[in-house]
Amino acid sequence: MPGEGNAEAEVMLIGEAPGKNEDLQGRPFVGAAGKLLDELIGSLGWSREDVFIGNVLKHRPPGNRDPLPAEVQHEWPWLKAQVEVIQPKLIVLLGRHAMDRFLPDLKISQDHGRGKRYRGQAYYPVYHPAAALYNGSLKQTLFDDFAGIPSLLKKITAQPAQTVAIEPTGEAGEQVAPAEPAQTTST
Ligand code: URA
Repeated sequence: MPGEGNAEAEVMLIGEAPGKNEDLQGRPFVGAAGKLLDELIGSLGWSREDVFIGNVLKHRPPGNRDPLPAEVQHEWPWLKAQVEVIQPKLIVLLGRHAMDRFLPDLKISQDHGRGKRYRGQAYYPVYHPAAALYNGSLKQTLFDDFAGIPSLLKKITAQPAQTVAIEPTGEAGEQVAPAEPAQTTST
């Protein structure tokens, strides 16, 4: 399940892995979490056609278990290629697993809703929409964090970083500190 959306998108959203419905339909975020994601995208006046939605894993882990480090590493070349083709101005990391792939030293509870730049690429970690389905209090937080995206985009457009290859800050499963500290570009 490769993901879908606009190949020219300024914003790329990256989730964890397809669930059962996504696997069956071959489309990302089509279940309950997807409905909330549609609302979040809609709250910005956008639709799915304006963004690209992908996942760290392209397959569904059996029983919906967490992705294994070896799986994340194995599937990285496809995600990397997607990012390189789309060249998004901003990558919205949906939840801990997506954040761990790109910015493993951060904590979602502390760093959600805060723009980060690493090696020229801008990131924006937010809670995973599924987390808000289990913990209702996170729903407003997610909407508040999404509301920060347009101003962050403006800021990124005004101060484009140099173009550099996109790489995660460490190999999956390793605790590797970023070569340079990820810089907060406050929203
Ligand atoms: N959760 C994800 O992380 N990705 C999907 O595509 C669906 C649910």
